[in-house]
This record gives sequence, C-alpha cells and structure tokens, in this order.
Amino acid sequence: MAAKILIVEDEIAVREMLTFALKNNGFETFEAGNSEEALNIVSKNNINLVLLDWMLPGKAGVDIAISLRSSINTKELPIIMLTAKSEEFDKIMGLESGADDYITKPFSTKELIARIKALLRRSAPQANMEVVTFGSINLNPMTHKVKDGDKNIILGPTEFNLLHFFMTHPERVYSRTQLLDFVWGANVYVEERTVDVHILRLRKSLESEASKYIQTVRGAGYRLSK
Ligand code: CA
Repeated sequence: MAAKILIVEDEIAVREMLTFALKNNGFETFEAGNSEEALNIVSKNNINLVLLDWMLPGKAGVDIAISLRSSINTKELPIIMLTAKSEEFDKIMGLESGADDYITKPFSTKELIARIKALLRRSAPQANMEVVTFGSINLNPMTHKVKDGDKNIILGPTEFNLLHFFMTHPERVYSRTQLLDFVWGANVYVEERTVDVHILRLRKSLESEASKYIQTVRGAGYRLSK
C-alpha cells in the first residue's frame, strides 16, 4: 500500500512539483496551502508523513508542527520541514517544534525521496517485536506503547526508536555517529547535534526518574543505565 504524504506549501508551483515527484515515486499525495487545510486533511485521512514548508505566511509552518505534536492522534506523525535557505532557518528550533527532519531548498528529488523513505522506515514498526523493560520503563514495539510504571509515555517516532535501541542495548556507550547509524539509518545526512535534540526530547517525555536512565557520557556519547 502506498504511503500517504501530505504536502503543506503555500506556493502552488512548488506544491505541484512536489506532488509530481512523489507520485512518480509511488506515493499517494494530499495537498494543503495553509494550516486549516492541513489539519483538516490530517484529521480525515490516515496520513503517514507530512512535508511541511517552514516559510508559510505568518509562522504557520511552526504552528502546524506544534499543533500536530500536541494532539494525541498525531503526536507520532512523522514531519519533514522544507526550509528555504539554511541561514534563515533555525535548525534546532525547527526540530524542537516537532519536526523529525528538515531539508533545505533547493533539493534534488532523489534526496527528498531518500529522506522520506528513511523517515518512514524509522517510523515503521521495529523488526524486533519483543516487549522490553528497563527499570520502570516498559516498551512494547508491537503496540508502540511506552509505560513508566503505570503512566503512559507518548513519544515521537524518532524518540521511540532511540529509546527502543537503548533498551535493547543497555549499559553500553554509543557515540552520536553510532546512534545516527543505528537509529536513523546509514543513508541519512543529519548533523550530530540532531542526536542531542532528540535525546533532550526523550528525556523531557520520560520526565522524573526514568529520564535519568538516559545518561550523557562526556566526550563519548550516551548510554542507558541506572
Ligand atoms: Ca512557501
């Protein structure tokens, strides 16, 4: 079944170009020119990924990402930000607003498709379906549910995969580069700082005691430990 991609972009020519490229690569596409349309489409269709233009009038791009992330139904929906020039875009702010990845215009269709496929892959259910526990955390890869004691923890797709990786490889230190390879996949071109942002988000979502399991090892990377 073709993955359903929502393209949110106010410039019609760009939107049409993206639609054409995605359709050519076997995706099913939906188009929105503003946040109202975007949220309406997301609520009515089972969208698998959102391509979101950062440069929408007002601060609509960020607002859409924040509003998708704050709703329980769309909290895990993968988002790729489309940005104009790298210097006009605050990468960390983009990622903190809830995007999983970003791509700078102009980009090649090939690069865009590779990014989409990589993000869909890391949002897809894991191959290892065994329930794992560590301390008070319980993670079920089959249902994508994470619990800290009795409390349900809701994570974005990248944070979920990051936690799943740590829980299946406890007590070992991984560098940012290794985490990018294992969790993001070898074909993704993301900066090492991206790892820090997602670690921060993971800790925030875990709150309280469990967040202390995700430890920074100075000069080396991160590990899951008590
Ligand atoms: Ca635009």
